[in-house]
Amino acid sequence: MARLNIVFIASEATPLAKTGGLADVVGSLPLALKKLKHQVTVILPFYRHHLTEAGIKTKPANRVIEMWADGVQRLCPLHKAKVDGLDFILVEQDELYARDGLYGPPGGAYEDNLLRYMLFDRVAIEVAASLLKRVDIIHCHDWQTGMIPLLLRTQYQHHEKVSSAKTVYTIHNLAYQGNFPAEWIHRLGIPSHHFNPEGFEFHGQINCMKAAIESSDSITTVSPSYAEEILTAEYGCELEGFLHQHAQKLSGIVNGLNVEEWNPLTDRAIEANYGPGKINGKKRCKQALQEHCGFDVAADKPLLTLISRLAEQKGIDLLLVNAEKWIKRGYQITVLGSGDAQNEEALHSLALRHPKQLYFFKGFNETLARQIYAGGDIFLMPSRFEPCGLGQLMAMRYGTVPVVRSTGGLRDTVTDYAASKSKATGFHFTMATPKAFDIALEEALAAYKSPRVWSRIRNNALKRDSSWDASAESYVTLYERILAA
Ligand code: ADP
Repeated sequence: MARLNIVFIASEATPLAKTGGLADVVGSLPLALKKLKHQVTVILPFYRHHLTEAGIKTKPANRVIEMWADGVQRLCPLHKAKVDGLDFILVEQDELYARDGLYGPPGGAYEDNLLRYMLFDRVAIEVAASLLKRVDIIHCHDWQTGMIPLLLRTQYQHHEKVSSAKTVYTIHNLAYQGNFPAEWIHRLGIPSHHFNPEGFEFHGQINCMKAAIESSDSITTVSPSYAEEILTAEYGCELEGFLHQHAQKLSGIVNGLNVEEWNPLTDRAIEANYGPGKINGKKRCKQALQEHCGFDVAADKPLLTLISRLAEQKGIDLLLVNAEKWIKRGYQITVLGSGDAQNEEALHSLALRHPKQLYFFKGFNETLARQIYAGGDIFLMPSRFEPCGLGQLMAMRYGTVPVVRSTGGLRDTVTDYAASKSKATGFHFTMATPKAFDIALEEALAAYKSPRVWSRIRNNALKRDSSWDASAESYVTLYERILAA
């Protein structure tokens, strides 16, 4: 197998800057590809504040790329960083990337987001073109890098270093397509002859995902089920027809985790370490979480947990309808997240009314997230749709049994108790209704009451292989296939 030279271009990656699962994937899949002996470079914007906060050491790359965008010549100094052995190249443009949020203020979006990411995309192509070795694969992610495959097909089609590179475009969430007013086409020099319904036009607007779907050599999504779902009207976000036209290049590869980074045997953020067959530490983690939340410290009280963006997608409303009922039944509920103001307010008010049974931490907090994954009995993920979902993978890795809606990656990664009592790692429900969610939770709690049954499910979850090993091989097979085509 030849050693491939792969470039990842994305808008976030752990541990540099993270808002969600995209960062986990971009920060960990390249490490798994490197383990398979391929060369990977990751290109990201230089988010000055986030890098400082994360304590990432960077070095100037002694190169400045000049780029015209929106009538202004912008200077973009490049920086290098090596994190866990992975090479990053970071594109500085402080006016555009040195902001408090990655994509906008809390709950909003920056108005110049297309300018920010078009500039980044062009500079990233220049960076890829100037790497020492010829690039084999350019792997782009989500709407922020959606214009790259189109630019490579058009404005860079004769470029000596990148014209022969093949492009892979991964849809991490079809709900965020990057739609912008058409006036940006001229302001940013986007190839206008592709602005039509077969190209990147969508209801008279620019649609960055359409640009990538049309132009890339391969499209992937982050689970096989989601790859099928997005071809239907229910999940296709109005792109199902367009995706159908390109379905021959669409496939689904399930996400993995950096299992060294997410490991209850070694995690230093949690109260005590534990693992399969060595479960005492988990009891101490539960105790510590109950204390942190101001709950009664009681080993037998079910502790339900949820860590999520509080967006409509995540089915938070299904939790809210059930919460008081579950509190009356004596359960404890810990929620970490931020997002829709309505959801935040509802959770806040529940926490005020039931301080001994519902704890809500509003915000993004990785240390607390680890403590919750470790301390919980049950992890709730009632998503209306879920491309892959990493929360349930982390929960299982920490022996917290997920109760999930059977959709997308949740269906592909959590083995339902109803389907296999001996292999189950969690519980599914199908209808996106509070009642179906409640029934699934009660099934889980019936199992929880039987120590023998519960310890089997929890052990299955703890032992589940959520590493990248198999999926990284699938990506390599895909890369090789399109390179040979
Ligand atoms: P999405 O990418 O749609 O937000 P995923 O389940 O794929 O959902 O990934 C979410 C990632 O973000 C997980 O790593 C999860 O632990 C993390 N996360 C979500 N909300 C928070 C939060 N409030 N604080 C810390 N980590 C969070």
